[in-house]
Amino acid sequence: MTLAKSLYRGIIASALAVTIAFCGAAQKKIVALTFDDGPNTSTTVKVLDVLKENDVAATFFLCGKNINKDTRPIMKRAVTQGCELGNHSRTHSDMRGLTVEKMRMEIEYTSHIIKQTTGVASEFFRPPYLLCNDLMHSSIKMPFIGGFSIEDWLPEVDAAERARRVVAKVKPGDIILLHDFEGNDATVDALKTIIPELKKQGYTFVTVGNLFKEAGIEPQAHNKRLYSNVYEQE
Ligand SMILES: [Zn+2]
Repeated sequence: MTLAKSLYRGIIASALAVTIAFCGAAQKKIVALTFDDGPNTSTTVKVLDVLKENDVAATFFLCGKNINKDTRPIMKRAVTQGCELGNHSRTHSDMRGLTVEKMRMEIEYTSHIIKQTTGVASEFFRPPYLLCNDLMHSSIKMPFIGGFSIEDWLPEVDAAERARRVVAKVKPGDIILLHDFEGNDATVDALKTIIPELKKQGYTFVTVGNLFKEAGIEPQAHNKRLYSNVYEQE
């Protein structure tokens, strides 16, 4: 082997090693807790209390129809606690049957009222029921956020089972989809197990926006993706 060739091979080998090391390092143990269908003056407040006690931030996907004079202070509190507010439509309907104009009305109402209330723009959209089609992807100018859910809307799935499912399923880069609709106290109780347990495993909780930033990924709108894990390419 000539000197040039062996030098070349050496460079390739070390570049490969650096790439492998970088990819390994890039998989940070980060996850985002997300809560859909609020805000309200009961469960949302309890979720915020648990987040505060554990010093973690999360992302709430709000329905515009639930925003009123009683819930606005709760949205402000969420932002003060470092939480992020996303858009979950106005009326929480299956948006696949809507015209472009009606889709935009659903989105713009909620985005406008979030900005007006908190001064912070919502950056992400979660489709109601995670149902979407091409027309929604081409009309709604925000990245679509999915996540893994654990059926935390079913009363028969109790708090212990909710916690067990999250802990069993979670992996680095995940978006965890939970609900803070009124009366969903089992999820509040599950959080009291989920957060300390995942912290013990070395996980850090971040907002959806920070999950993308930490992973070095620029989330895209109009790309027909429903992001559920920032490290997975669908
Ligand atoms: Zn929902």
